[in-house]
Amino acid sequence: MKDKKLEEQHFNNKSTVYGPVTSWRLGESLGIDPIFVESTCSFNCIYCQLGNIQNVTDQIKEYVATETVINDFKEIIDAGKKVDVITYSGSGEPTLAKNIDEMISGIREITPDIPQMILTNATELFRDEVRKRILGLDKIIVKIDAPNEKIFQAVNRPAAGVTLEKVIEGIKKLKKEYKGVIEVQTMFMPLNKNETEDLANLLKEISPSLVQLNTPKRPYPMSWHRENRGNHLGITDYETRQLKVLSPEEAQEVEELLRQRTGLNIQSIYR
Ligand code: SF4
Repeated sequence: MKDKKLEEQHFNNKSTVYGPVTSWRLGESLGIDPIFVESTCSFNCIYCQLGNIQNVTDQIKEYVATETVINDFKEIIDAGKKVDVITYSGSGEPTLAKNIDEMISGIREITPDIPQMILTNATELFRDEVRKRILGLDKIIVKIDAPNEKIFQAVNRPAAGVTLEKVIEGIKKLKKEYKGVIEVQTMFMPLNKNETEDLANLLKEISPSLVQLNTPKRPYPMSWHRENRGNHLGITDYETRQLKVLSPEEAQEVEELLRQRTGLNIQSIYR
């Protein structure tokens, strides 16, 4: 890499707060990384932008100190950066962080008017204490890529003991308790395209405010860099592998079928 400054930005990112990154739906989204130390998730999705997850686990603990996150957040806000929304995501599954509730309330105190949301794989939502920790958020976006255990195992490659049944149980419990907006994000690939009918039935059952249809946008990195969390700076001088994606025509077919079968608000990245 020729530009030394870019190299430092790309590989030596030492902050638990990253961006803001421009999101296709949300505007300037400031990322909060409650995991940070290494990529850690209860899934190891075949399309993950972090690459092969280093620590596939459903262990809930403090991964990074709340104070570190709050100080990193203050630094960005004090620098006067434009932030439309705050998103908990980062180096893996954010609900694995036991102290995420402290981060949510600490950030709310500093910037009460900026909406806060989370991208979660929903694997831990069946636990009462995990749902309670995130009830203060404005929006919860849950990932559902599979309508059955077989596709769930093939696409999401979960930690031992994590099942789709528990994921659905968690989302249903959350729906009863949570006053904010629940959306679903679904990654469509050739592997789950033929599951659209069954997925439609599941989505109808969950009945979220919105279903976002995604497709892998970036090549799969063969190694982890902290900058994998946000927008790539257009630099991938490490090894990557191209992922199979749906053609725009296939994506449109999926979108139309889901809309017909569910009557839900469906939004596709292809549009
Ligand atoms: S849930 Fe998200 S962070 Fe975890 S492996 Fe899947 S895409 Fe990566």
